Amino acid sequence: MQGSIIDELKESLRVLPGVGPKTAQRMVLHLLQRDRQGGRLLGEKLLEAMERVGHCRLCRNLSESDLCAVCESPHRDRSQLCVVESPVDVVAIEQSASYRGCYFVLMGSLSPIDGIGPEELGMDVLVDRCDDNVTEVILALSASVEGEATAHYVSELLKPTTVHVTRIARGIPIGGELEFVDGNTLALALSGRKPL
Ligand code: ZN
Repeated sequence: MQGSIIDELKESLRVLPGVGPKTAQRMVLHLLQRDRQGGRLLGEKLLEAMERVGHCRLCRNLSESDLCAVCESPHRDRSQLCVVESPVDVVAIEQSASYRGCYFVLMGSLSPIDGIGPEELGMDVLVDRCDDNVTEVILALSASVEGEATAHYVSELLKPTTVHVTRIARGIPIGGELEFVDGNTLALALSGRKPL
């Protein structure tokens, strides 16, 4: 029962958010006792995803190809760029069906303590993007300290350009994550954005 591969697997599963030692143990035993086929598939798909999923060249969102579906679509408004912290924010905004522009995904927010600076967030790529046909950058960042600092940084960064920087209106709870906000609230917040 105490084979080291079982222990290693339990330990590996703990990289998942919310998975402690007991949950990890339950998962491993479930797969070994009841669903080896599912376990094999899980292993294959995990490996495949880790190898194949990269970042979209234009918006930095997770993508299997050079360009993601949004950036590739001819139906999106290329004059608007919505800046978000994480891929899950893109999913939330897309589900609200209230936005037809493009995105830029920072993959985090400014946090000097964690060693996350402008470079890690691809700020240089963002500035390059704003050279093209972009007229408005909409900041849809969280209301956390890091989110505020990031919003301030981006607005300062884009000041010398002709791009109009706006920010989604509140209605998003303070400290709230976009992923937990319902579509209507998000739609309202987007339509009520204000100049920064
Ligand atoms: Zn993209």
